[in-house]
Amino acid sequence: MNSLTFPILRLLADGQFQSGEAIARHFGVTRATVWNALQDTESLGVRLFSVRGKGYRLPEPVNFIEAGRVLTVLGEHGPKFTLEIHDQLASTNTHLMQQAAIGAAHGVCVVTELQTQGRGRRGRVWQAGLGNSLTFSVLWRFDCGAGALSGLSLAVGVALMRALQELGVEGAGLKWPNDVLHENRKLAGILIELQGDMDGPSAAVIGIGLNLRLPEPLRKAIDQAAIDLHSIAPQTVDSSHGLGTVLRHLAVVLNQFESEGFESLRNEWMAQHAYENHPVRLLMPDGREIEGIAGGIAADGALLVNTTEGLQRFAAGEVSLRGMA
Ligand code: ATP
Repeated sequence: MNSLTFPILRLLADGQFQSGEAIARHFGVTRATVWNALQDTESLGVRLFSVRGKGYRLPEPVNFIEAGRVLTVLGEHGPKFTLEIHDQLASTNTHLMQQAAIGAAHGVCVVTELQTQGRGRRGRVWQAGLGNSLTFSVLWRFDCGAGALSGLSLAVGVALMRALQELGVEGAGLKWPNDVLHENRKLAGILIELQGDMDGPSAAVIGIGLNLRLPEPLRKAIDQAAIDLHSIAPQTVDSSHGLGTVLRHLAVVLNQFESEGFESLRNEWMAQHAYENHPVRLLMPDGREIEGIAGGIAADGALLVNTTEGLQRFAAGEVSLRGMA
């Protein structure tokens, strides 16, 4: 990517027009160089208006992440994280999994302004353009083995819900095992990938995508109902504030998860279960579908469902849950 592309996009962050000449002057380059640098934006999926006589502007203001502001929001929890801010990455999880394998430290948080190949579970994608979604991954190292981390994605859901409550969001709920919904529309997703032995030590890369502001065409392109913070939070949540708030709650919840296990967070998770006592359908890896009534969560994070064959438990693995009308 052209090294001037993101610096110019930052200059255009307020969504106002800037002439090619003013941009060129700002960076001490020619207008042709500016034009060149902005040719990359289309391939990045970043829309830019270019109007003769007025210059360039982004369709909407974009809040770029400011490390200082994230640290202010993190407060006393700041030292637990090492922030790594990227302009663009294919996937923060992929990047951090690679870094973890070569020894990246506990607490590294990789965040990107633009994620071009965000991943969900089982090859699915997380879609977001510049400024649409807070996309980041955190590396957390555990003494225990990967086998003891089965409730981790649910614990992370609890941290996200605490952060959303602090941001004034009402009406959000958790969908087992790894999504945050608001009135049945997906607001955030969690993707956890593990490294290490079953007996320990192990490392978890905790990936989070939290929608900030989804433009209408993107919302329509997502193959399930989606929502953003902009539509439901009482005030605008910029990416630095959102990131700092989520990380602060994550630090507290992960600490509790490590010392007391998921069981200590289970009641809090269940109190926010979007489908508790609701009819649900489970999509099994072999293509089977099982219907029943969602009936709580086991101490290890498995979903309990009352089916015609009695109470059954489902480990997160490859199972997908769908609410039924
Ligand atoms: P499950 O985990 O129960 O199988 P899921 O279908 O939501 O649920 P995930 O792997 O958790 O699957 O997330 C990926 C899915 O999230 C995509 O297939 C798409 O439907 C949806 N999605 C992608 N981008 C966004 C976004 N920005 N906002 C909300 N939803 C999105």
